[in-house]
Amino acid sequence: MRGLMQDRPLLISSLIEHASRYHSEAEIVTRTCEGPVVRHSYAGIADRAKKIAQALLDLGVRPGDRVATLAWNTHRHLELYFAVSGIGAVLHTVNPRLFPDQISYILNHAEARVLMFDITFAGLVTELGDGLHSVETRIAMTDAAHMAEMPAASLCYETILGAQDATYDWPDFDETAASSLCYTSGTTGNPKGVLYSHRSTLLHSMMLCQVDGMALSSRDSTLLCVPLFHVNGWGIPYASAMCGAKLVLPGPNLDGASLYELAATEGCTFSLGVPTVWFGFLDHAETRDPETELSLERVIVGGSSAPRALMRRLSAIGVHGFQAWGMSETSPVATVGNLLPKHAALDDDARVEMQCVGGRPVFGVELRHIDDDGALVPMDGRTPGELQIRGHWVTSGYYGQAGTGPDAEGWFDTGDIATLDGDGYVRITDRSKDVIKSGGEWISSIDLENAAMAHPDVAEAAVIGLSHPKWQERPLLIVVLRKGASPDPAGLRDFLAGYVAKWWLPDDIAYVDAIPHTATGKIQKTELRKQFADHFLP
Ligand code: ADP
Repeated sequence: MRGLMQDRPLLISSLIEHASRYHSEAEIVTRTCEGPVVRHSYAGIADRAKKIAQALLDLGVRPGDRVATLAWNTHRHLELYFAVSGIGAVLHTVNPRLFPDQISYILNHAEARVLMFDITFAGLVTELGDGLHSVETRIAMTDAAHMAEMPAASLCYETILGAQDATYDWPDFDETAASSLCYTSGTTGNPKGVLYSHRSTLLHSMMLCQVDGMALSSRDSTLLCVPLFHVNGWGIPYASAMCGAKLVLPGPNLDGASLYELAATEGCTFSLGVPTVWFGFLDHAETRDPETELSLERVIVGGSSAPRALMRRLSAIGVHGFQAWGMSETSPVATVGNLLPKHAALDDDARVEMQCVGGRPVFGVELRHIDDDGALVPMDGRTPGELQIRGHWVTSGYYGQAGTGPDAEGWFDTGDIATLDGDGYVRITDRSKDVIKSGGEWISSIDLENAAMAHPDVAEAAVIGLSHPKWQERPLLIVVLRKGASPDPAGLRDFLAGYVAKWWLPDDIAYVDAIPHTATGKIQKTELRKQFADHFLP
């Protein structure tokens, strides 16, 4: 027997419709690529989304077509989140920090018909030139006054938007239709496309608004330091419209001083970003008077593991830092580091430790971890295994790559090595390709890095496993020192001995000026492994 409840499709257009009707005055504040800070309301953004939607339809964009963006966090990019998906087309956000040949590969693989770009990326679009096989229309996301410098034959976003009225009605269609497309950065092989649906996006948004999700609400003013080109800005644009949270978009300026200024002037209560962003923010905040200037209450540190030192520095300026874990393939949020009643009594050190774990599963996803033979590993908080996930917003296969994806029961291999405890708290100990196999045992490069980062002289640390004539692999610690500090390998090794087992201690420490990062801000270990390949070989 079927239930007798209404079967309304879960569509992204319903988010902006709701925000426009019930949170019409909540603000979207943007530092634009052109310079000034501009303010809109949800009602204003909803109108503009309808106008650009109609303009895209007039240009011939049809349901299922890919509309690509090379753009920062701005109100225009936000409008496209609703407009493109709202007409049934697919918003294809591309990471502009990738190499141009990777960007061409991605746009060609996705067969994008339209390319929208910020003025910052005009040069990049010119460079991509004729290499884009499917792009028919290029649109510069700016006003007429800035068009002189844009690539020839580009359309002007504000001009085509301004020619429309806001009478367009969002259509209804199947909630399982594709809504957006994001390629993983391809640290292994070519980038792979993850294709989200309206349904997965709405369910993920509901989770972000739960108290035991990210507790996002209309009382929040959210500084979004996660780029809109990185896994849908971790879903925050959609969830903000769902609950009417004020949204503060920093445009191209992600340095500590610019972010601090926005957080202070816009009364931001919540923010999200990768560790590098928070280090920059803290370096600036510590020169100011954050206790009186900021309203920031909680900050999610995600995308990579968080060193304890980072959580302590956030606490020192009155901000609660915590972790979330996920990946492009999981929309991305799968676990969030909320605490349970039993953690209320923890002392300071134990609480910081909990703030640094990746969190526990939110409703909608399940996690498990297995050993090399596929057997389940005990959830004892100590034994690492390969992490698998399934759930409502987990991929069922990569775009245009038949035969990829989860097993028959829906379990998707994350490629992460983790421990799980009895409550489901996950602690990522490595990417499976980064784990160090020494004499048949595993050493966690992440644990070693975090231990090194706790040393006052260390600005950044990376640990890689290198071939070793006796032990198969041994750890090499690579360190960038803080300004003014000088190398003291013996002192650093003694310091590490206070945190990790003796046989984990790195065989050598290399001091470098800078550590390479991927386009999403992660340490590029493939590059380091190449650079130091023969370090331990005779
Ligand atoms: P890519 O960088 O390949 O595009 P994603 O942005 O999807 O991939 O990143 C996913 C990966 O980032 C995860 O598989 C995990 O290794 C790492 N990651 C994400 N969150 C955390 C976290 N809280 N702690 C440790 N690692 C994390």
